[in-house]
Amino acid sequence: MTLHLSKYVSGGEIINTRNNSIHGYVALRGCDRPIVLQLTGNCSPDLVGRHLKFEAYSDPAIDPEPVTEEQMDELRLGWMQIGVPGEMTIAQYPRLYLEWHGQNGHTVIDLLHPLIEFVDPADDDIDDDADDTPTYDDLEEAEQEIAGMLDDAVDDEDMDVDSSWNSDSEAAEHDDEDPFGLFPPDLNASLGESTSPPWTSEPDEATLAQWKEWDEVFEGTRDVPLSSLFDPPIQLPPEEALSDQQVAELFNVILKQLALHNVAFHMCEHFTPRGGYQLLVNQILREYGIHPELPRIGYTMSFDTSEFCAECAADFDERYGAEQSDTTPEDLDFDTPPDDSSLDDPPF
Ligand SMILES: [Zn+2]
Repeated sequence: MTLHLSKYVSGGEIINTRNNSIHGYVALRGCDRPIVLQLTGNCSPDLVGRHLKFEAYSDPAIDPEPVTEEQMDELRLGWMQIGVPGEMTIAQYPRLYLEWHGQNGHTVIDLLHPLIEFVDPADDDIDDDADDTPTYDDLEEAEQEIAGMLDDAVDDEDMDVDSSWNSDSEAAEHDDEDPFGLFPPDLNASLGESTSPPWTSEPDEATLAQWKEWDEVFEGTRDVPLSSLFDPPIQLPPEEALSDQQVAELFNVILKQLALHNVAFHMCEHFTPRGGYQLLVNQILREYGIHPELPRIGYTMSFDTSEFCAECAADFDERYGAEQSDTTPEDLDFDTPPDDSSLDDPPF
């Protein structure tokens, strides 16, 4: 099944200026929280190496739908999308087509006539963080600010709010002191009765259960082998038996499957799909486990080839100085990437 997000999307950015990595965000109409992208792979050829900003065209015929964070949660949307890209292209402009395989499986954004802007990679170095910041609807920001001011005024008896500000507020009709119904009816009573805060210091059962699950995730007490996530089991031959094309296809299959279980595999620019496949098949899928219910818990586990990469380790030494790294080689836990000599029996 495909998750179609097009009608919710108001804009976003796609950045593929580093090999094997697509990051950026997708903003949703009416929703403050953007979907963040951290995909492993590259865009279609026309967008490789590019940093693209886009804004959806508001065509009444498309029936754009404002959404809330809660509505997207009902779709069990992963707010930080990991996995692998499909087609990501503007080759058929005025069409922008963005497709990937993440925690929600096959996901598609297909926009006609979006505004497109390319960001010069040179500007990225200077202003990367600012470029990643989504813009919010001014009105919503103003509303939040007002709600915050009302919050601060909770104990102020002289609070004088013009109830015509929101004339269709139902609460205004039966409670003049709280025209927007922002506060529980017994708030004043509970504040008056006790000097202790009106909330309990004991976590409820649901919270305790949640903490227990997070402990299980981090302590690994319920972990299952990563290789057990492949149901039905998948044949993963040793890489030397495969052509580049076959390796790339199987590598993609593995990453798609891992993404469905909230497991990300990020690649540094030194790794090829063949190197990534080797690392997964010979080491990671064999040696690592995960909590079997990460999607429900909402946690994403990430592997990164840079932790297994000699070149990244050398870059790190160069950047931070051999003096410092000499003192912490065990902490860094860098391994050299697997090479032919490290291959042994076929793993599966
Ligand atoms: Zn590397």
